Amino acid sequence: MSALSNIGRFAPSPTGPLHFGSLVSALASYLDIKKRRGQWLVRVEDIDPPREVPGASATILQQLDAHGLHWDGDVLYQSERLPDYLAALEQLAHKDLTYYCTCNRQRMQTLGGIYDGHCRDLQLADKDSAIRLNVGDTDRGHQQFTDLIMGDYQQSLRTEVGDFALRRRDGLFSYQLAVVVDDHYQGITHIVRGSDLLDSTPRQLYLQQCLGYQRPEYMHLPVALNTDGQKLSKQNHAAALAPGNEAHNLYTALVWLQQQPPAELAYLSVSEILGWGITNWAISKIPSTMGMSAPDRF
Ligand SMILES: [Zn+2]
Repeated sequence: MSALSNIGRFAPSPTGPLHFGSLVSALASYLDIKKRRGQWLVRVEDIDPPREVPGASATILQQLDAHGLHWDGDVLYQSERLPDYLAALEQLAHKDLTYYCTCNRQRMQTLGGIYDGHCRDLQLADKDSAIRLNVGDTDRGHQQFTDLIMGDYQQSLRTEVGDFALRRRDGLFSYQLAVVVDDHYQGITHIVRGSDLLDSTPRQLYLQQCLGYQRPEYMHLPVALNTDGQKLSKQNHAAALAPGNEAHNLYTALVWLQQQPPAELAYLSVSEILGWGITNWAISKIPSTMGMSAPDRF
């Protein structure tokens, strides 16, 4: 692929069918990259088998298709990408940036989420260990970027995150590692996703630096909240999008993203709604707030 081509992606976890919140992310990433005349890829993030729901990835792909959100190329499954994650870990180990950690869950809980580097110099063995990335000193671990919606964002990895895990003690690769390796592998230039992931972006920027990857552009959307103020998610029992309402769902998502579609658009077809959405896509209209209430009906 040409280095000049724009490539976006939607990367669902197969933990359940699409709900309004995940449709918003899919739609926004699709409209944004199509406005840039780029390609839109779909990647199924299926590297956490205990959390997966059988059949969910097939359902998600059917739902995207029904909403006219047709992806370019083949769907990439992270479960088929494990050799590349291993290679990235080896590359980081060669640079002496990683170490084994045997801290258990109880010890981690006492740390309040910020790892203290306890195992950094202990030269522990691989067996039953997590692999952590050394985030370096305060200067090196300080990351900042300008989000296309949220604006300037910065974080000190040393003081706010600590050395983070790239592989868990149970042997599963971390989300942070897999997402960075795959965004690079797929040549992703524009990442559009929910603001619940904003605070993991500095970790991903740092990993990109360590692995010598290019930095994509980031755009973090407000997340849709339920009446209790929680993010819509499978865990919070968000309603799956019902079949047959695709045009209505797209229109409602455009309204929610404050793209101000004309009322008559609601009565048009899925492809006409998407066509309007691409032509009129305006990042500047999307509110730079972390969360907003989901619509009452969808
Ligand atoms: Zn440790």
